[in-house]
Amino acid sequence: MTNDAMKIPQATAKRLPLYYRFLLNLHSSGKQRVSSAELSEAVKVDSATIRRDFSYFGALGKKGYGYNVNYLLTFFRKTLDQDELTKVALIGVGNLGTAFLNYNFSKNNNTKIEIAFDVDPGKVGTKIGDVAVYHMDDLDKVVVEEGIQVAILTVPSAVAQPITDRLVQANIKGILNFTPARLNVPSSIRIHHIDLAVELQSLIYFLKHYPTDTEPT
Ligand code: ATP
Repeated sequence: MTNDAMKIPQATAKRLPLYYRFLLNLHSSGKQRVSSAELSEAVKVDSATIRRDFSYFGALGKKGYGYNVNYLLTFFRKTLDQDELTKVALIGVGNLGTAFLNYNFSKNNNTKIEIAFDVDPGKVGTKIGDVAVYHMDDLDKVVVEEGIQVAILTVPSAVAQPITDRLVQANIKGILNFTPARLNVPSSIRIHHIDLAVELQSLIYFLKHYPTDTEPT
């Protein structure tokens, strides 16, 4: 992120990749401008929020014209460091990990899993997608040598914390944690936690308790 981007509120920053993906699609279909109402319908964020978010980027939509797609794309590309490849490692090549390696975020040009790690002798030394699986013994050395900045954790939760400690020692910057474990890290490390079971339960709870046309708070 650039210094300018630091001033963007976190809630807005979290929506940037969503906007970016949609605008890329618009751009490739040849569209030059987009209204906040169109964006709102596509990304499912209300248009007042979109207008406020975009005002942080200096993008002030014109009435009857909307937003210039190229301007927004240039801004997002710069802000999201799309031109700078962030090296990602995946740890734990189980069912979920294997799915990520095969998927490998191929539509996003700045996110690619470079390398994977596991302890299972049946997996170490193989390639999944085009990603090589290394043994955990090599983690510390390889992460430093390759300049890996982000790790995706898809290991059993019992081993998540000790692995995290090693990643911190190896100077990782961010962790996307798919294990249910709550991880302790120094404040300089950013962790995003995605617990699929909790997300599913939460969805089911909202379906039961909130009519679908009401926004949960
Ligand atoms: P599978 O069916 O392949 O076991 P899973 O997702 O159900 O997949 P988990 O037990 O959650 O299996 O383990 C996920 C992956 O994490 C497995 O490939 C396992 O070998 C690996 N793993 C287990 N312990 C460690 C560890 N200490 N370090 C790295 N990887 C580990």
